[in-house]
Amino acid sequence: MHIRCSRNPYTAHAQRDALAFRSAGAACTPCRALLLTGILALTPLLAAPASAQTAALRRYETKYYTIFTDLDADAVREATLRITHMAEEYQRRTRGFAGEIRERLPFYLFNKAQDYVAAGAPAGTAGVFMGDRLMAIAGEDAGGHTWHTVQHEGFHQFVHAVIKGDIPIWANEGLAEYFGESVWTGDSFVSGVIPPQRLAQLRRRIREGSLKSIEEMMLLSHAMWNAEGALANYDLAWSMVHFLAHAEDGKYQKPFAGFLRGVSGGDKWPEAWRRNFGSDVQSFQQRWRQYWEGLEPDPTRDLYARASAATIASFLGRTQTQRQFFKDWGEFETAAKDGRVTVGKKDWLPPALLDEALARTRRIGDWSLERRGGTTRVLCRLDDGTQLVGSYRLKAGRFDSADVKVTPAPKAPPKPATPNTPNP
Ligand SMILES: [Zn+2]
Repeated sequence: MHIRCSRNPYTAHAQRDALAFRSAGAACTPCRALLLTGILALTPLLAAPASAQTAALRRYETKYYTIFTDLDADAVREATLRITHMAEEYQRRTRGFAGEIRERLPFYLFNKAQDYVAAGAPAGTAGVFMGDRLMAIAGEDAGGHTWHTVQHEGFHQFVHAVIKGDIPIWANEGLAEYFGESVWTGDSFVSGVIPPQRLAQLRRRIREGSLKSIEEMMLLSHAMWNAEGALANYDLAWSMVHFLAHAEDGKYQKPFAGFLRGVSGGDKWPEAWRRNFGSDVQSFQQRWRQYWEGLEPDPTRDLYARASAATIASFLGRTQTQRQFFKDWGEFETAAKDGRVTVGKKDWLPPALLDEALARTRRIGDWSLERRGGTTRVLCRLDDGTQLVGSYRLKAGRFDSADVKVTPAPKAPPKPATPNTPNP
C-alpha cells in the first residue's frame, strides 16, 4: 500500500509517501555499533552493498542516523547537522508522548535523482520513508524543498521507530507537515511557524468550503488518504496539529499529548480522543475556524525573526573564533554578501544558511549589532515593539552554543479616563 503524499504543498505534483511502504527495494544494511562520539564523525566506511545502486555509497555513522551517500564532504556535513538537530527537535517536541531514538536510523542520500530512483525510491519525489529507511535527493538534483521533505518524511520514520501505535493518518501527516515547516538555524530548529503563503491558501480553502470537516478528517482511513492524495488534506491536517500545539495559549497541548500517548500505547483513537477532548467535535471545529480566521497575515514573524537571530548569532560566534569582527550591521551584511564571513573548519555551517537568514531580515524587523562583554550580539526590533537578542557562547576557543532572548512588546498603558466635559 502506498500513501500519496506531497511535502511541497504549493505545487500540484503529488509525491509518494511510504509510511506503510514495504516494497522489496534496496534493503538497508544493519547499523554497526560504532561508538563515535561527535555528530560530525565523517570517516567514511564502505557500505555493505544492498543493491547495485547503493553499492557505491559511503557510510557515515552520525548521532542518530547511519547515512549512506554519494554526496561530497560539505553536503554530508550539512546533512549530518540538519538531521541531528531534526531528530533532537522531534524528541524535544514529542517528549510528552514519545520516546527517544535508541538505534541509528538508516538514511540514504543521493546526489542525483536517477540514482535515487534506481535504488527504489518513487520517481517524482524528493524524499520518502520506505518503511525501513529514509531516502532523499540532496545534491545536484536537489530542489528547494528537499529539506522540507526530509523533515516531513523523517518524522514518519520517527513515528515508525519511536512512537509506534496506530497514530491516525491526520495526526501523522499533520505532525510531519508541522516539522516540515520548521526552520533550521544551524544549531537548532524553530518550529511552529506559519508561512504566510500557506495561511492564505488555507483561508482560501476555508472560504471556498473545499476542506473536509474535522470530523470527516478524523474518520478518514489511511487507505482513503492514499486514494485521495489531496493537497487540501495536508493543509487541513497541518492546521489541526498547529492549532492543537499553539492555539489559545497552548491549552490543547496537554490533551493532544494525552491523546497521542493513548494511541501510541495501543488505545483506539476515538476512545483516546473522547477521553482527552470530549465528544463535541462541532465546537472544536468552530474554535479551529475562529483561530485561523482571526490571525493576521504573517502571524509568526517573531518566530522567523527568532530563526534569523539564532542563525546570525551562530555565525557571529564562529567568526569570533577566527578573530573576525564587524563594527556594525552594515559591515556584517556586506561581508556576508561578498562571501567574506569566515567560520572555522570544525564549526562549519553552509554559507547559504546565512543568506537565507539575512533574506528574512530584509522582510522582518530592524536589525543591528552590539559589542558587549567581549562578544557581539545581534538585536532585532519588530514593528510591534518586541525585541530579540541573539547571543553565543564560546568554550575553549570553539563555538559552543547560540541563544535568542525575546522581550515581548510592553503592553499599551490603559487609556486615561475621558475627562469630564466642562459645562459651557
Ligand atoms: Zn507524509
